[in-house]
Amino acid sequence: MTSPDCSSTQCNCQQHVDRRKFLGRTLAGTLATAAAMSGSMASAAPSEAPVKAKTDPNKRKFMEEATRLAIESVEKGWGGPFGAVIVKDGEIIGRGQNRVLLTGIPVFHAEVTAIMDASARLNPKALLGSEYGAGTILEMIPRESGSPDPVPERARMLKGCEIYINGAPCPMCMSAIYWSRIDHVYFAASLKDTSQIGFDDAFQYEDFAKPWADRRIAVTENFERDVGLKAYEAWMAKKDRHPY
Ligand SMILES: [Zn+2]
Repeated sequence: MTSPDCSSTQCNCQQHVDRRKFLGRTLAGTLATAAAMSGSMASAAPSEAPVKAKTDPNKRKFMEEATRLAIESVEKGWGGPFGAVIVKDGEIIGRGQNRVLLTGIPVFHAEVTAIMDASARLNPKALLGSEYGAGTILEMIPRESGSPDPVPERARMLKGCEIYINGAPCPMCMSAIYWSRIDHVYFAASLKDTSQIGFDDAFQYEDFAKPWADRRIAVTENFERDVGLKAYEAWMAKKDRHPY
């Protein structure tokens, strides 16, 4: 946690030291990527901005809508400046905006909300007790050839969709995107941009790379494993289980 008197990003509290270290590494990674793409280390002039993605007027409107949602959230006091849209076949099928301040729910992020909105739209009926059949996002599709997926088929989810986010996704939202099987993420502002307006997403990415015991939040692993595994056994014993 930041100490109460710690307002300067140049101070030496652990959080700010870690942050500078992390951002330094991010910058180094960006430069290495830029150099690799250009084929020459010499051409990688020091720059804090990542390589700019190619402009696409057909897709820019989606980023503009994500940003509109983000600004609305700020102006109405609903949450942080974050918005997201999910696009399928060139159409917006889901919208989300940060509503943490409106709801008091810490995980009410734009991307998760957009995923829930798109999923509700793609599911023509309530799923509980249904056959999970065709026409819902739980329809099974085979794994792609060469995929390391341990099961031969699993639910389609939002495969075939793209997500546009005005700022880099936090690890929770990025994970939600993995669960949703979204094909492509477009984000505008970087993690560093997000850090500079006071949000700590970058730290979480760094923390995830550490062993459990070194994380910022205390984690006790292998705690009563025999108890927890009973649920896994129930899943494996279920004949009609539905991988997703
Ligand atoms: Zn998030």
